[in-house]
Amino acid sequence: MTKVLEVRDLHVSFKTYNGEVQAVRGVSFDVDEGETVAIVGESGCGKSVTSQTIMRLIPNPPGFIKKGEIIFDGKDLAKATEKQMEKIRGADIAMIFQDPMTSLNPTMTVGKQIMEGLMKHQKMSQGEARRKAVEMLKLVGIPSPESRLKQYPHQFSGGMRQRAMIAIALSCAPKVLIADEPTTALDVTIQAQIIDLMKELQEKINTSIILITHDLGVVADIADRVVVMYAGKVVETGNLDEIFYNPKHPYTWGLLASMPRLDQSEDQELLPIPGSPPNLLSPPKGCPFAARCKHAMKICTEQMPEATKVSSSHQVACWLEHPMAPEVKPPALAVG
Ligand code: SF4
Ligand code: MG
Repeated sequence: MTKVLEVRDLHVSFKTYNGEVQAVRGVSFDVDEGETVAIVGESGCGKSVTSQTIMRLIPNPPGFIKKGEIIFDGKDLAKATEKQMEKIRGADIAMIFQDPMTSLNPTMTVGKQIMEGLMKHQKMSQGEARRKAVEMLKLVGIPSPESRLKQYPHQFSGGMRQRAMIAIALSCAPKVLIADEPTTALDVTIQAQIIDLMKELQEKINTSIILITHDLGVVADIADRVVVMYAGKVVETGNLDEIFYNPKHPYTWGLLASMPRLDQSEDQELLPIPGSPPNLLSPPKGCPFAARCKHAMKICTEQMPEATKVSSSHQVACWLEHPMAPEVKPPALAVG
C-alpha cells in the first residue's frame, strides 16, 4: 500500500484570553491510497481541527501548529506557505463539509463553481470545463445536469446540494478527500445515498477519504480504518473489525454502547457516556478519560498511558493494556 498522507505528532493550539487551548495534542496517523480512514470522537475532541489543519484552514491567529508534520507528496504541509496551499487545496486535497451552504457560493451557479476549479487547477478551457462539469453532475447522480448547471445552490434540495459539493470536490480527482460530518445534516435515506455515492466514487477515482464523524453507523458503512480521538489525542486506532469487535479502550466501549443497533429493541436505551471531556486549557497530566472512566486506577490520573500495540494495525493508549493491570472485560453491549 502506498501512503498518501502521514500526520506525525501534530499539535495544534489556540490562543485565547484565558490561555492556550491545546486542541490537538500529538496526533499521528497514516492514510493509504484508496483507503477510508474515519476519525471519530465527541465534539471538541480535535477531529475537525485536525482535518482543517491538514488543509491549513485554521486561522492564525488564534490557531497555530505548535509541532508536528503533515507529509503529503514528499512535502510537509505544516510548513507550506499559503501560496503553496492554494495549489494543493481543491486540486490534490479537497474537502466537503456538513453544510454545503457554507462552502457553496450562493451568488454563483453550480456549474460555474465546478468549472472554476477545473480552469484554475487543470488549466481547462471554458468549453472543456463545462463538459467536465456536466460529466461530474451526472457522476454524482444529479438528473438533467445540463440545466442544473445553470442553477444556483438555493434551487437544489439538501441532498442535491451535498451531491453538487461532492462533484466540485472530486472534479479535479484529488488524492485525498476530507469529509467533515458530510451526512449529519441530511435525513437518513439521503445519508445512505450520499455514503453509497462516496463509496462508488472512491472506487472510480481511487481517492483516499478522511471521514470526520461522531456517527459510528456511518463509520461501519464506509471506513477501512478508525482513529478514535479524545481530548485532542488518539486513544485507539485499528481497522474496522478491530475497533468494532475487539475494542480495547474504555472510551471506544462507551462510543459503541451509545450507538443504535439493528438488533436493539425500541425500549432499550442508548447509553451516553456520563461526564464531559477535560478542559483543554489545562489538560490533565494522566489519561484524559480518567474522570469519566469506570476502570480508572491510581496510575491513570498520574501518568499518560503510552500507545500499546494490540496487533500490527491496532494500537491503544490505556493502562488496562499494561501487563500489570487487572483484567477488565468490555461491556457485552459494546461488542455486538
Ligand atoms: Fe480508563 Fe485508565 Fe484506561 Fe484511561 S488509562 S481509559 S482512565 S483505564
Ligand atoms: Mg466538527
